Amino acid sequence: MPIKPILQRILHNGGGLRLIRWQNGSRNRILTYHNFHSVGTEDFEKQCEHFRHDYNPVSLDEVAAFVRHGKALPRNSVAVTVDDGYRDFYLYAYPVLKRYSIPATVFLMTDFLDCRAWPWWDQLRYAFFHTPLNSVSLRIAEGRQMPHRLLDPASREMAFEETVEALKSVPNSDRLAFIADLPEAFQVNMPADPPPGLEPMTWDEVREMALNGISFGPHTKSHPILASLESEEQLREEIEGSKLRVQEELGRAPAHFCYPNGRRVDIDERVRSAVERAGFLTALSTESGWNEAGSDPYLLKRLSMKPSLSTFFFRQQLAGFRVK
Ligand SMILES: [Zn+2]
Repeated sequence: MPIKPILQRILHNGGGLRLIRWQNGSRNRILTYHNFHSVGTEDFEKQCEHFRHDYNPVSLDEVAAFVRHGKALPRNSVAVTVDDGYRDFYLYAYPVLKRYSIPATVFLMTDFLDCRAWPWWDQLRYAFFHTPLNSVSLRIAEGRQMPHRLLDPASREMAFEETVEALKSVPNSDRLAFIADLPEAFQVNMPADPPPGLEPMTWDEVREMALNGISFGPHTKSHPILASLESEEQLREEIEGSKLRVQEELGRAPAHFCYPNGRRVDIDERVRSAVERAGFLTALSTESGWNEAGSDPYLLKRLSMKPSLSTFFFRQQLAGFRVK
């Protein structure tokens, strides 16, 4: 028998994970989810069972009081968050969370819910998978020409991933120009609405969930990398404009903000202070790690999760094994 499964079994069954969880018990974990699928509902249910059984689910308001004022959290606290606002959350995850009485916060890209735009990475993926071309040569911003052969789904996926990463490091106007040029560059008709399975939740669904344990916060209007925005006005529009949309639809000001993409390089001092000025209690990044009393409330860390993670990996991550 290979060594890895043996070690995993010792870790999981021999009390090793319990020990790691105990050592990290006074820290807070915030989890990030994005998408849910009907086939993964059972997996997500098992994860929720684990939160209920071995952890203490808490809301972001409680996390805010802990990091800002040192107000104690229950040991092994875990807060669930979900980014972007896809409708699959409403269909597949919300009923499970409700059944287990687990609070969660969903961060909404408000232009997506307002049906003004679908996420730019989904548009890009659509172009790579629907183009009749067998190859494309793309130039991003001032960069060099990047040739991609699109022979099969695997090569299209790889080309998509390379391009989406490259687009995260250019000025916002260059990214917008690139996305606007997709029909021309890929010879593809881009539908006005997102394809099936990638739709946003509706504001009525948001209001229904808000009455049943789910909180909502803004995740900007159009999901730009905030540090790549050229003007203060754009920055304010994305942060305060999305806050206002959530407030208009729910009747109260949201307390928590979530940075798009959320790596440390995507959040410069200008961005961080604009979020603080907008009056939020906390703002969440995608930097991996835990939060403690006294952590910067505008740079909260999270752990990335998916319903499809293996039980071993999911439980290890959550307990704190291998987390920075
Ligand atoms: Zn996002």
